[in-house]
Amino acid sequence: MAKMKKNTTAAARGNAANGYVRIEQYNSGTVERVAGNYREILKALGEDPEREGLLKTPERVAKALQYLTHGKGLDPAAILRSAMFKEEYQQMVIVKDIEVYSLCEHHILPFFGKAHVAYIPNGHIVGLSKIPRVVDAFARRLQVQERLTVEIRNCIQDTLKPLGVAVVIEAQHLCMIMRGIQKQHSVATTSAFTGEFQQDRTRAEFMRLVSKRGD
Ligand SMILES: [Zn+2]
Repeated sequence: MAKMKKNTTAAARGNAANGYVRIEQYNSGTVERVAGNYREILKALGEDPEREGLLKTPERVAKALQYLTHGKGLDPAAILRSAMFKEEYQQMVIVKDIEVYSLCEHHILPFFGKAHVAYIPNGHIVGLSKIPRVVDAFARRLQVQERLTVEIRNCIQDTLKPLGVAVVIEAQHLCMIMRGIQKQHSVATTSAFTGEFQQDRTRAEFMRLVSKRGD
């Protein structure tokens, strides 16, 4: 059981300044195919794809969708392995408030919010900036929030082999909000734990630390 004194807990805040590189390259064949289909979708919706405002929309949507799903072509485990270090540190490491932007695979509408990730090292630590990149690699694809949560947990557990992993995601789903199924601003929370985080005390400590509002 790792010691969980507050003053020995490492915490870091996820942010955009951690080396995330936006992908600006597109597969032209895919752009063409998706754009062609989107022209048909616009017609089926009673729109005129030739009107000025819509002329370039199919190509824009095709590129946006490729960007928003590019995580499928990434290897999140490789991202972790690229910055693993031997270290005897055995306290909880938390990266909280990681921005999450994903697409619900049932409606292809965004869901977005915050992820909080923690692990307790067991001989290895990982560069803190890699955790948000792993979250992003799994989020940038057609997803459901439940699977996203478990995939992040499993990737860290299987790659880093720590004493435990905790993942909590709080997200708003436009498919619920825009379609009026749930009250505005309702937030779905999912969580997944392994190892020491399955013990009440450790999990409670993690939840206390991530629910504490910073600065
Ligand atoms: Zn949905």
